[in-house]
Amino acid sequence: MIAPLPREVVERIAAGEVIERPASVVRELIDNALDAGATSVRIELGEGGLRLIRVADDGWGIAPEQLALACQPHTTSKVRALADLDGIATLGFRGEALASIAAVATLELVSASGDDGLATGITLAAGDPTSAALSHTARACGTTVTVRDLFQTIPARRALLRGVRAEATRALAVIRSYALAHPAIRFTLVDDGRLTLRTPGTTLRETVAALFGADVARALLALGPLRDEGGAVSGAIAARSISVPTREQIVLAINGRPVTNRALLAAIEAGYRPLLRKGRHPLLIAHCTVAPDLLDVNVHPGKAEVLLRHEAALARTLRDAVYSTLGSVAQSADALAQSTRPTAAHFAPPIQLRLPAPRSRRGLPIAERRGRYSAPPLTDDALPSKLPALVALGQFDETLLLARTAHGDLYLVDQHRAHERILYEALVRQRATLAQTAARAVGALVDRDATTVEDAEDDSYGGAAGQMLLEPVLVELTPLQAQVLLARLSELATLGLECQPFGGSVFLVRALPQVPGAAQQPTAFARDLAVAAAEDSDDWAEHLCTSLACRSAIRRGQVLSLSEQQQLLTDLHQTDAPAVCPHGSPLALRYSHAFFARSFEW
Ligand code: ADP
Ligand code: MG
Repeated sequence: MIAPLPREVVERIAAGEVIERPASVVRELIDNALDAGATSVRIELGEGGLRLIRVADDGWGIAPEQLALACQPHTTSKVRALADLDGIATLGFRGEALASIAAVATLELVSASGDDGLATGITLAAGDPTSAALSHTARACGTTVTVRDLFQTIPARRALLRGVRAEATRALAVIRSYALAHPAIRFTLVDDGRLTLRTPGTTLRETVAALFGADVARALLALGPLRDEGGAVSGAIAARSISVPTREQIVLAINGRPVTNRALLAAIEAGYRPLLRKGRHPLLIAHCTVAPDLLDVNVHPGKAEVLLRHEAALARTLRDAVYSTLGSVAQSADALAQSTRPTAAHFAPPIQLRLPAPRSRRGLPIAERRGRYSAPPLTDDALPSKLPALVALGQFDETLLLARTAHGDLYLVDQHRAHERILYEALVRQRATLAQTAARAVGALVDRDATTVEDAEDDSYGGAAGQMLLEPVLVELTPLQAQVLLARLSELATLGLECQPFGGSVFLVRALPQVPGAAQQPTAFARDLAVAAAEDSDDWAEHLCTSLACRSAIRRGQVLSLSEQQQLLTDLHQTDAPAVCPHGSPLALRYSHAFFARSFEW
């Protein structure tokens, strides 16, 4: 039942412009289709949506006597009372979309809510809600909304829009993110008469195949599923061999709603940043499911942002899921051999057009719809797994370790990068532990109120002391570097790097971290570290650990005994991101047993 919202609810609804451009119309109409239980949504655009936007669904439709009501401001079937705003499980909730569209365009609604094949239509001329004209046609259960000549009566608003292509691209991005957030729903887009997008309405992998091609779909890795107090995380991320120069292929969906949430998107980026080259971004779909009462969707007029009660916990889970998934799966030589170069902007040619299947379903009462959203599974077939336990077979060219798995797969592992990964993670852990110990020591002293903080630093950092140099190394920095370094001296000591100001922007490096290889070229090592430690960025500590690990790791060209090789592989297996070096380059290549069988025709 569609009914007007009480005044106190209207007053609590995030105010602002709901309809900014064709893409916002598309978004609102898709929301309505999904809320009506549609399994198929067909979108048609004419001139980027400026001339025409039509969205047809196979949902449960609108009863004829409610059509006019649906187009009034603040009328909805989804929210009744103030309390409902605290647990919204539908995509729409304000009862404003149809009215807002009718105010700026000609709106035509045709809907059938039963199986008798009868549909009722209503047409509202732009900005004139009294103009409603009813008509009757034939249609299977579902709704078709047609929006014509957006902003034509408001030239000032129309002037704010970009060109036809730019608006079409924005609308396409919206449709693509909904298709990825709802792989079980069939989405079709016809753009200026051309079939541009068609998803099968099955699994996430098949949806990705339809949108980006089979190669990309094959390279998908399952994200999670993981659960914490903040909610559940699942989805997919394409392996590192497929990355793009923009963030456009990252979709974050919370309870089926594609959103931008700064903290969660930053967490996703923090998860992949160390594993991809600079400027590259993955193709990633993160489905987060949270209890509706831990989520405030009523904060943004376009519904593109949400507030989360346990945002920090969910962010951590997302970051860890992205990092461990992307960092654990070795590049597959099989896939490389099979694939042509993947292009992320590629659309597979749609196979065939099918009309929405007729269906009969009625709107569920609000209470029953609560929490009905659940994240879809990625796939039906097996995924490449985390780097497995490896048995060393020998060394190739004093560079690569040959190793096998229990299943007869062959791995090539870059010895330098593998050691880098092991050392890097040990350094990061060491830094975290020492920082904690230091914090505890300071805390204890403050509690006792006895000694000074300097004593505390002596106590706690003393244990972490690096290897004292016989002769301190003099390092000259720029004034900015010197200023940055000065602020980090005690933190650097936790890593064993002891620097002492020596006037101006000159420092004395007195001790170096105790890592293998540090003693070989102490002067160059000390300089590099001091410069890395003075880097003016948030990631400086990771970069310092990377630089340390790189300096200390076994080189290529170094002969290793079989037991040394085995030790390296065993240590690597225990790291968090065993397939990628700290600089973000691949370190292992996998040849599956099946690949040999195929290639040799066994
Ligand atoms: P809201 O989605 O916030 O409720 P809208 O203005 O988008 O507000 O829609 C008003 C009402 O019209 C909805 O609550 C719903 O009952 C009905 N409605 C709109 N679109 C559809 C659709 N595609 N299928 C079924 N019902 C719809
Ligand atoms: Mg709506």
